[in-house]
Amino acid sequence: MQTSVIGFPRIGTLRELKFASEKYFRKEIEAEELQQIAETLRKTHWSIQKEAGIDYISSNDFSFYDMTLDTAVLLNIIPKRYKELELSGLDTYFAMARGYQGASGDVKALAMKKWFNTNYHYIVPEVEDDTVIQLSGNKLVDEYAEAKALGIETKPVVIGAYTMLRLCRFTGKKPALDYVEDIISAYQNLVKKCEENQIAWVQFDEPALVWDMEESDIALFHKIYDGILSCKKHSHILLQTYFGDVRDIYQDLIQMPFDGIGLDFIEGKETLNLVNTYGFPQDKQLFAGLVNGKNIWKNCFDKTLKVLQTLNDKKIKAVLSTSCSLLHVPYTLKHEHKISQEYLAYFAFAEERDCKNADVKKRLSEVTENDYVRLPERSTRQKLQKKVLGLPEFPTTTIGSFPQTKDVKANRQAYRKGEISEQEYIDFNRKKIAECVALQEEIGLDVLVHGEYERNDMVEYFGEALGGFLFTEKAWVQSYGTRCVKPPVIWRDVYRKNPITVAWSVYAQSLTKKPMKGMLTGPVTILNWSFPREDISVRESIAQIALAIRDEVLDLEANGIQVIQIDEAALREKLPLRKSDWYTEYLDFAISAFRLTHSGVKPETQIHTHMCYSEFTDIIAAIDDMDADVITFEASRSDLQILDSLRENHFETEVGPGVYDIHSPRVPSVEEIVNALHIMLTKIEKDKLWVNPDCGLKTRGTKETEASLRNMVEAAKEIRKQA
Ligand code: GLN
Ligand code: ZN
Repeated sequence: MQTSVIGFPRIGTLRELKFASEKYFRKEIEAEELQQIAETLRKTHWSIQKEAGIDYISSNDFSFYDMTLDTAVLLNIIPKRYKELELSGLDTYFAMARGYQGASGDVKALAMKKWFNTNYHYIVPEVEDDTVIQLSGNKLVDEYAEAKALGIETKPVVIGAYTMLRLCRFTGKKPALDYVEDIISAYQNLVKKCEENQIAWVQFDEPALVWDMEESDIALFHKIYDGILSCKKHSHILLQTYFGDVRDIYQDLIQMPFDGIGLDFIEGKETLNLVNTYGFPQDKQLFAGLVNGKNIWKNCFDKTLKVLQTLNDKKIKAVLSTSCSLLHVPYTLKHEHKISQEYLAYFAFAEERDCKNADVKKRLSEVTENDYVRLPERSTRQKLQKKVLGLPEFPTTTIGSFPQTKDVKANRQAYRKGEISEQEYIDFNRKKIAECVALQEEIGLDVLVHGEYERNDMVEYFGEALGGFLFTEKAWVQSYGTRCVKPPVIWRDVYRKNPITVAWSVYAQSLTKKPMKGMLTGPVTILNWSFPREDISVRESIAQIALAIRDEVLDLEANGIQVIQIDEAALREKLPLRKSDWYTEYLDFAISAFRLTHSGVKPETQIHTHMCYSEFTDIIAAIDDMDADVITFEASRSDLQILDSLRENHFETEVGPGVYDIHSPRVPSVEEIVNALHIMLTKIEKDKLWVNPDCGLKTRGTKETEASLRNMVEAAKEIRKQA
């Protein structure tokens, strides 16, 4: 049985590429040195796969920043404003990825978007009216040749023409369809180049085929590949799909002259069914994505073998493959020195580990329908809360964190390393909290926060405190460009061991008569930013986390905290790629889990939630159905379109669309905030509008934070007079 890897991570086991790139950005090393490090990494990654005995190893899966951007550059999709900088090829590329400010000009970066249903972000290419799409680079054949020189035969991979057209933004008047002929001939030239270099297999990644496809999409796909494949002679073309199944186009695909088709059997719920129902031609190879490319557990051999047996019985020529690129998992456990043998054993024998906790199971089984429903109904609660909390019109608040200054990080570090005692650690944070509360009172905010000085990261902090999570030291995964994350691993049933945030919140509340907002991360976000288990469903795992957070919510309330925010920054993350699955395969249990966290509180306790984006017009009813009393979200950079949709959908939750952008150090003026509020008031009822920034303030400096918040409170006062 032959094996194939769709793509390999490129950042380096110890994030070598990240550190080298950052040095290059700071002008500490030259381009040659960066290129050298990249070459070493490629060599290492190919060798690892070769030694592991992989037959189809990818090349051109290396990227200095992002594969979509690489493909855009390969196709000459470079907006004028970057070309005009007249920088080197590499620097033009980085200017598109990160923006450029310097002697040659001042341009912002291209937009970034989430890559399908992953936490990876790709650069959105921009096609202008006068962009000429044509093959204009050698990266693909160069990297093939580089591997070949090392004695390693590879299959170069590139994003396919159909997916590229779907991912590009067309910024001028010309629509995507105007570029079809050009893109076909660019890929034809690419195929010809591969032929010239005697490349045996080329992999075209077409993940866009797992989205819902209309007749017109299918016709477009045909047109594109009928064109591209018409020039093929010796090279074999592998059409690679992932992140789901290709139910809308499967019957067409198997009749087209591809030499191989890669299908995802892990996330593609219908894949096996499609093969069983419509068959698979014997003159093609089926690259069977049976090894989960997104998770870290050992492969479940029984299941894999069963599918392979089925394919074999049908006389299908199969190659065992990963289900997607390995970009989404860490490299190795070999750098984990702190994880105890006990845990490592669970990893090594993942299929045998005992993850069950009888108490958690029992508790979950006792949850009833009523536990998902908070009473009385929201409108009644909202009235009651207004009375009890005594808040003014247009109440002001913040999203939770205050600037994480050097001293704050140093304090946490010192405690972690055992350099200071627990008491010293607590005393320092209490001092910070006291200062933070005093500042908020002096500025005149209405609902205060304690500042989150004890947290490194909103998921890691809770994961570490809950039972059932495991943390790695070096298991980094690329999120975008040079940014990597280290998702925790859910490896057992999750439960709350002890109160987590209560002491900090109670202390903060003791310093003020104003309501102090308790601050938690919600179950959906905790799960979506972790490696989930595979032995139980996501549905069950989220419910376990929800019960743990519920304990914390009730404890905060019992200790006098009247306002509690449960952040769901990543609610959208695992929304299925097919719309028809949204409510039956995700939102049903995600929204329920959130409701389970807060349904037990008293009517007068005010529940807030927060989301980091304004992109939810398409799931607005589900968000309202979370049944929070108040929601805050990012809005300052969006066109405020969401406000229309709030009104059209009779959104009941009180709302705080962020009035200023916290991603920039810029201080917003009172006037501009007042203007934003006026616009909001044309769409949102007066008694439902809150005034707050877009997101937490942890990445900001102290000075601009103070100034911005002062202006924000001033603006709220102004609007109270006017409205
Ligand atoms: N409460 C968190 C904070 O203020 C929310 C962070 C987030 O939304 N990403 O930092
Ligand atoms: Zn946020």
